[in-house]
Amino acid sequence: MIWNLLGCRTGRQRRGILPFMALLMLSVTIGCNQSNSDLSENTEQTPQAQEAAATPANQERTKVVATILPTYLFTKAVAGDAADVSILVSPTTDVHDYQATPDDVKAIASANILVKNGLGLEEFLDSTIKNAENPNLTRIDASQGIQTIDEISPVDKTVTDTHGHSHGHSHGHSHDHADGNPHVWLDPVLAKQQVTNIRDGLIAADPANKATYTTNAAAYIQDLDNLHSEFQQTLQKTPNCTFITFHDAFPYLAQRYNLKQVAVVQIPEDQLSPGDVQKAVKAVQKYDAKALFSEPGVDNKLLTSLAQDLNVTVRNLDSLETGGERDPQYYFQTMRKNLQTLADGCS
Ligand SMILES: [Zn+2]
Repeated sequence: MIWNLLGCRTGRQRRGILPFMALLMLSVTIGCNQSNSDLSENTEQTPQAQEAAATPANQERTKVVATILPTYLFTKAVAGDAADVSILVSPTTDVHDYQATPDDVKAIASANILVKNGLGLEEFLDSTIKNAENPNLTRIDASQGIQTIDEISPVDKTVTDTHGHSHGHSHGHSHDHADGNPHVWLDPVLAKQQVTNIRDGLIAADPANKATYTTNAAAYIQDLDNLHSEFQQTLQKTPNCTFITFHDAFPYLAQRYNLKQVAVVQIPEDQLSPGDVQKAVKAVQKYDAKALFSEPGVDNKLLTSLAQDLNVTVRNLDSLETGGERDPQYYFQTMRKNLQTLADGCS
């Protein structure tokens, strides 16, 4: 019988076998079970256990959990294949409203290293770490040492109100806390500092892979330097351009490239309130803005009709807080789109 030839009866996978062989044997095992219930020995191992036994090297690899998408992309870029990097907050949810799940506690409990963006963005994290009870956890704050913008955004108080949200945030969160605005990853220069912090943290926690982390970080930082040059060259043509957003995510980018962000709304809203709409109208008039900047995935019907009334366009700027891509290059693809969007909106 074919399954005997493939080792159905051996009951245990040999260590070090190639993953595809493990898969093959797993499927044969299932075939065995269906045809012969006496071979229960094999069924005691879950597919995960078989895979782990088949690739013992995986058990040695450093487990890194990164909180949000940009932090994940930077960590993955530095770690490469030297560590297993996973993302904690599903990039389909809004980190500003995030409530930790039991799975998050489990993920942190079994991790070696936790990387956060920091600056108060991950408000759920402290209690989640506490619940995970992992005394060996190394924590990396990607924003360590970064000079933040204290004021939320250089908004004009006649246009927007930085204190309190008239539309109400039941979760009680706003960006205006002592840590400063947390969206530092949207400035390529500050992103370099985050990558450097992540590199140094990984090296300290896992010195055996120092060479890999160093090489990977250097390559990514080079890419960030190139991106920074592109932003400089393109946006210097439209100095002091004012762009109107509905998420206070771009003050660092604006400061870096001599633009001005006016954030009508601090945190992305499911729906704009009448007050928000009024602010948007005032901002467009005051700054003679040519465009309103929404975000991918936001339902902006109201914004679209508002824009039509005001004779301006609606464009999408991506804060990278959500998105399905897990390739570290996704950061550059998205930022180049943002650059093009800003250049078009400012011209
Ligand atoms: Zn945000």
